[in-house]
Amino acid sequence: MTTRQELHRHRWRVASSHPVSEGLLTYQSCACGQWRVTSTPLHPVAHPDLARTRAK
Ligand SMILES: [Zn+2]
Repeated sequence: MTTRQELHRHRWRVASSHPVSEGLLTYQSCACGQWRVTSTPLHPVAHPDLARTRAK
């Protein structure tokens, strides 16, 4: 039975962040052991085209 994992709501905590040319790269971890990486554009309003490209 692993269905409980699907109900788990991750509580992301920022482990580390790194400024990159596109913005801010943030590594986050959950207490369950899951990791994810997010990127935040520095100027999403000034450069909507760049933000759209990074959407994927
Ligand atoms: Zn989790």
